[in-house]
Amino acid sequence: MASSQELEIYRHFIDGAWADPVDGEWIESVNPYTGTAWSKVPRGTAADVDRAVRAAQRAMSEGPWATMTATDRGKVLRRFGDLIEQNAERLARIEVRDNGKLFTEMHGQLRYIPNWWWYFGGMADKVEGGVVPIDKPDMFGFTQYEPAGVVGAITAWNSPLLFVSLKCAPALAAGCSVVLKPSEFTSASSLEIAALAKEAGFPDGVFNVVTGLGPEAGAALVEHPGVAKISFTGSDAAGAQIYARAGQDLKRVSLELGGKSPNIVFEDCNLDAAVAGAISGIFAANGQSCIAGSRLVVQNSIREEFTQRLVERVGSARIGDPMLPETEVGPIANKPQYEKVLRYIEIAKADGAHCALGGKAATGHGLQGDHFIEPTIFTDVTNDMRIAQEEVFGPILSIIGFDDEADAVRIANDVSFGLAAGVWTSDIARSLRMTRAIKAGMVWVNTYRAVSFMMPFGGMKRSGIGRECGKDAIYEFLETKAVWISMAGEAPANAFVMR
Ligand code: NAD
Repeated sequence: MASSQELEIYRHFIDGAWADPVDGEWIESVNPYTGTAWSKVPRGTAADVDRAVRAAQRAMSEGPWATMTATDRGKVLRRFGDLIEQNAERLARIEVRDNGKLFTEMHGQLRYIPNWWWYFGGMADKVEGGVVPIDKPDMFGFTQYEPAGVVGAITAWNSPLLFVSLKCAPALAAGCSVVLKPSEFTSASSLEIAALAKEAGFPDGVFNVVTGLGPEAGAALVEHPGVAKISFTGSDAAGAQIYARAGQDLKRVSLELGGKSPNIVFEDCNLDAAVAGAISGIFAANGQSCIAGSRLVVQNSIREEFTQRLVERVGSARIGDPMLPETEVGPIANKPQYEKVLRYIEIAKADGAHCALGGKAATGHGLQGDHFIEPTIFTDVTNDMRIAQEEVFGPILSIIGFDDEADAVRIANDVSFGLAAGVWTSDIARSLRMTRAIKAGMVWVNTYRAVSFMMPFGGMKRSGIGRECGKDAIYEFLETKAVWISMAGEAPANAFVMR
């Protein structure tokens, strides 16, 4: 471990200024590639959260944010997008230092992220209420939208600023203020963009960042009476706890949770494309992706050949330094996750799955740190095994055979999650039948892992509640108000009955 003098020190960002933790506690952030700590962030408590929420409440009631036109609000969002674009490379390096994902992936992501700010910035002044052609002749009725209030945004470590943008861009476009609690493993980039938010012109208190642990700072945010809405990205276990706790106060909640997504390969597909899609579905980002295609459901007629091609290609993947452009597989993001993945490898073996590739920690070849796991492929997996039912969030692919379309649908849906799915086929009618039959929030045909700020993102079943991205996402952060105006001009004949 580096000595604390060498660590970069980050502070909370509250009310437009850097703030030390009230309790004076800190968390070290470890670079998973080197295994050494490189920064420390505050271990926030309820006291820090309270300061941030109060600042966010003031910003919505007293500050310039409350009276700013939606058009001007949109301009601030778009400027913020510009600043993220200008800083994309620097921010990507910070994220790789925190979560070990490939720089090539994170840099691409960071260059794409400004789109969320430009898109929702453009939408800020296009939220329109409507005049209702009301069925009462002496009434005039219209609707208007108002910001829901202070939003508590809680995010995961795998794509930190992407998740921040998915939530905060529509929330701020709607006129809400935000208290963001990023993952304790990857807080630095969120604090870095807090400075950019100020530079972009967000008034003090509109965008606050409080760092800390989930059960401490995260729970305090969920419990705070000043928070109107919780927008969460993370595991289904934490999501269920947050939903239950927020429910006690009847807070609005949206949840982006885990998955166990099927990537379904029919014998009539373009095999080259499907092999590439199967690999990027699970081994891109080392499987640390909510939408990972962790169950490869392959038609039995091509299963053996397909498996062989996968094993050959994945077996030669270059493991190493995530900063290097030639690296294909980097380290697992953090120690608990690394241990969890190894545990699941043992569970799969014990349950009778056949390990066709990998299946252990990767060492040697000049690898630094101790966070590497060989990309792993299990065959002879049945859909009732734990490896096929539970989210691992690591580079573990389970291959499951099927006979016909009905069998594929049954396997695809026989799981508690419903986030994403892939279908590989040359038969357009089949692809349409499959997209209807699969219970998942996102279905890709002859592609996998495509994401856009314009397309709704989110899941069914245990994968979550609500959708991010797309033009409806802003309504997750708005309240509808119905306004009634009487044109009667005289008292009703009977004040004791409903009009
Ligand atoms: P996690 O649930 O452990 O933590 C996510 C965030 O919630 C962190 O900021 C954490 O500090 C906080 N948290 C944890 N417990 C909390 C509590 N009781 N109250 C309040 N906050 C709490 O998840 P993770 O390990 O950071 O991320 C991996 C998980 O996230 C996987 O399950 C993955 O599928 C999911 N994920 C989902 C999406 C999506 O959009 N659907 C995207 C990325 C990751």
